[in-house]
Amino acid sequence: MSGKSLAGKKALVTGGARGIGAAIAQSLARAGASIMIADILDDAGKASAAAIAKEGVATGFVQLDVSDDAQWERAVAATVSTLGGYDILINNAGIEITSLVSEVRAEDARRMCDVNIVGTVLGMKHAFRAMRPGGAAGKGGAVVNIASVAATIAFPSIAVYSGTKSAVDRMTRVGAMEAGKLGYGVRVNCIYPGLIPTDMGLQLANDIVKVGLAPDVNAAVGSVVEQTPLGRLAEVSDIGDAAVFLCSNEARFITGIGLPVDGGMGM
Ligand code: NAD
Repeated sequence: MSGKSLAGKKALVTGGARGIGAAIAQSLARAGASIMIADILDDAGKASAAAIAKEGVATGFVQLDVSDDAQWERAVAATVSTLGGYDILINNAGIEITSLVSEVRAEDARRMCDVNIVGTVLGMKHAFRAMRPGGAAGKGGAVVNIASVAATIAFPSIAVYSGTKSAVDRMTRVGAMEAGKLGYGVRVNCIYPGLIPTDMGLQLANDIVKVGLAPDVNAAVGSVVEQTPLGRLAEVSDIGDAAVFLCSNEARFITGIGLPVDGGMGM
């Protein structure tokens, strides 16, 4: 029997083609979990799954737009057929479209709500159905939703994004309450990552310059570092390690929390 903390576990990771999702999937695999990557990006998703297979665990990829319920049905079916079910869901897929409030476009706001809010709750819905007693995975599941430090602080130019991440935080608590009270055997928590220079994080830094909130990208990033007591940006592995903990037996009595992994920026 392996001493790894997630040996025998099966995880579905949305937005796992790159960035934070790919890193969380790597960390879960290193801890012994088999991994299903779900993402809208086909080639990058397959490449991420192939890279994770080097950890010696079963992996697979399924194309999924998290805002589409019918696609979730197919993703769950693919996960059941590839891994035999799942007892960990990482609800990580998300988008950010930067805009000052005075310039917000309704279609951008709606798309952020669709992916970040509807996508997250659909993920919880299907996880609860699969993981509760009688579901495909039986008892003992863990859901980790990826919110953001933006749910805890006011940062200019990301009003709608911050609102969607606050919604993720609230949905986490209600999901944890329902899953606990109804005896599903599923714990539900969320993580608030600080700024990380992934594709999304770098785009945000560039956008901050474009809307006139910083003279250049270095200044934009520098001001975040300055506001961070631990004195650096977050790294994807910081989030991966926190996700492993929340999914592990070490976190067995933890549900309904939002865990900041932001070097103290949001305190
Ligand atoms: P990223 O843009 O680098 O990666 C996001 C991944 O999600 C991509 O693979 C993308 O294809 C996928 N995705 C986007 N829309 C999707 C959809 N509708 N269905 C399925 N997959 C979809 O972003 P990231 O920085 O890795 O962010 C991952 C999560 O972390 C997001 O929820 C984001 O809001 C959150 N977050 C990021 C930061 C940061 O600074 N990067 C900070 C706090 C929170």
